[in-house]
Amino acid sequence: MDIMYRSTRSDSTPITASQAILRGFPEDGGLYVPTAIPALDTGLEKLAAMDYKGVAYAVMRLLLTDYTEEELKACIDSAYDSKFDTSEIVPLKKSGDAWYLELFHGPTIAFKDMALSILPYLMTTAAAKNGSGKEIVILTATSGDTGKAALAGFAGVKGTKIMVFYPKHGVSSIQERQMVTTVGANTRVIGINGNFDDAQTSVKNLFTDQALVEEMAAHGMQFSSANSINIGRLTPQIVYYVFAYTRLMADGTIGAGDPVNFVVPTGNFGNILAAYYAKRMGLPIGKLICASNSNKVLFDFFETGEYDRNREFMLTSSPSMDILISSNLERLIYHISGDSAERCAAFMKALKETGKYTITEEMRAQLGDFVSGYADEAQTAAEIRAVFENDGYVIDPHTAVASSVYRRYRKETGDLTPSVIDSTASPFKFEGSVMKALGKDTSLPDLELADKLSETAGVPVPKAVSDLRDAPVLHDIVCDREDMRQEVRRFLGL
Ligand SMILES: *Cc1c(COP(=O)(O)O)cnc(C)c1O
Repeated sequence: MDIMYRSTRSDSTPITASQAILRGFPEDGGLYVPTAIPALDTGLEKLAAMDYKGVAYAVMRLLLTDYTEEELKACIDSAYDSKFDTSEIVPLKKSGDAWYLELFHGPTIAFKDMALSILPYLMTTAAAKNGSGKEIVILTATSGDTGKAALAGFAGVKGTKIMVFYPKHGVSSIQERQMVTTVGANTRVIGINGNFDDAQTSVKNLFTDQALVEEMAAHGMQFSSANSINIGRLTPQIVYYVFAYTRLMADGTIGAGDPVNFVVPTGNFGNILAAYYAKRMGLPIGKLICASNSNKVLFDFFETGEYDRNREFMLTSSPSMDILISSNLERLIYHISGDSAERCAAFMKALKETGKYTITEEMRAQLGDFVSGYADEAQTAAEIRAVFENDGYVIDPHTAVASSVYRRYRKETGDLTPSVIDSTASPFKFEGSVMKALGKDTSLPDLELADKLSETAGVPVPKAVSDLRDAPVLHDIVCDREDMRQEVRRFLGL
């Protein structure tokens, strides 16, 4: 069966997977969704005997149906290689009553690597398939994690250039250091005098700057987006749910068909949406547990059926979840409104105009698989401590939000179903918050603190962090918002 992609907001003609990956998002402001959700057609027993790449192919071939076997396997082979510091790619660790799925063994030690290590290959393959022959120029605005993961993915990839804008005074010191030391002639990193919203708005304007787009086309270049709404990021995220499930089968914890819960620390709703698709593809998932930090807009949505972004934005120790508009929720809204672009568009219009919308009772009734919870700052720190005191395992604040929510869920419901917590970042990426939660001295410079954390956790400092010690700064341009367009032209030699 060929799976095509259409917009969540209008009934335009469906396009192929490779076209959707190349374009990023439809012109009507919606998101691409599959016209049908395919069923897993490889048996669970068989999947349990495969390695990560094998599972990746078995899953992704169902959704990216216009890629040939050869093309897709080449993308998978290029992505999940020695860039990851373990051949398992995503190890599953048991601690206390739960299993932690470590999604942070890629080049930037956060889960964005799971998708951004393959997206560049999916995209260049898509460009070749669709005969565009153009060089792909990725523009990204980042608040920290996405920028470096996208740089790491695209650096050195033939046929691409990548430019990342970050708020000069709005990212952590490790995050800035990671970005400005990026090697690769096809990369450029620029600090903006302004905040993340400024950077993001300007990037969006550049994507639709007709004069610039035409000038680029004349020079054989086209823009694309590495943002989390690209289905080329969503699809690879379904893989690790199937992988985790089948590892629990392989070690005898469950039998084929037994339910497993997944607990996901959520921001833009991309990661948990991938779990939802995995379930709809037939993976025997019990509950999808959506965990928020103090920015609990999703918790309130699942509790009341009303999505309301009109509230104070809080800065927390889990910054990648500090989000009030969870873009990917739009895809869930589309599906529970009966795959209706018309109804979905109306909700999104209300969100844009009033900052809120309320779904119908009939739609709410379809959310029975979801459970939601949140952890505030004190609960998050307490969870880091509790998990460490139990058996010496150290988790990062994002993972701790999910772990804290799970601990209370299990106690309150008595649901003893084996449960997997998505571990979305290495504790070394947020070492300050982690060491503080463990009651340690945090006055040291970042890299020395990493050494201390290594002693405490009994795990070596990840290469992604130790490599920063003597990495030279290769990007030092800082500009105002108004100059971003000119910086793009300069980088592209226009
Ligand atoms: C991006 C991110 C999240 C949130 O994932 P979504 O797909 O946006 O819900 C959680 N934890 C970390 C460490 C992240 O980088």
